[in-house]
Amino acid sequence: MFAGISIVILGTVLFAGAGTPEPLTLAEALAALHAPEIRVLDTVSSLGPLSRKTRTITLADLVRFHGHPCDGLIAAASGIAFGLRQLFPDGVVDRTDLAVIVNRSACYGDVAAYLTGARHRYGSFVIDPKLGDEWILLRRSTGTGVRIRLRPGIKPAELPVLEGRLKKAGCPHDR
Ligand SMILES: [Zn+2]
Repeated sequence: MFAGISIVILGTVLFAGAGTPEPLTLAEALAALHAPEIRVLDTVSSLGPLSRKTRTITLADLVRFHGHPCDGLIAAASGIAFGLRQLFPDGVVDRTDLAVIVNRSACYGDVAAYLTGARHRYGSFVIDPKLGDEWILLRRSTGTGVRIRLRPGIKPAELPVLEGRLKKAGCPHDR
């Protein structure tokens, strides 16, 4: 059900009409059918205890951090939010209690880092280039994990070809 978001976004925005596809706007991203909101807990300082107050992360926060709204951001946010609900059934995500494994996508990686609090420097953020459109989340305190995959066929078949053209054209990308 959450993977359906990318059908809507990709189908109506990136591939609408002929000619150059229009980039996704923040307003369109926020209007996504299942735009997730995630309640999180963090420590009150670098060495402090866990806060008693939750904060809510939205797609707008993720876009500010990532730099642009995109299909990868929404797909990852939806998928990871779905996984976090399995690991934290009470709906409050402890961002000191997670590890994550993602592929090399900057979009997926930024969303995974922001939502989970996982950090490369602590070994809790792992990049596995062999992964596809999937996100592996581990809750350290319970030893439980989930692997969320984008359902086959969700991404338009044209996408790899279009992305390949952009890469061949030498379009600037994340540095
Ligand atoms: Zn992106």
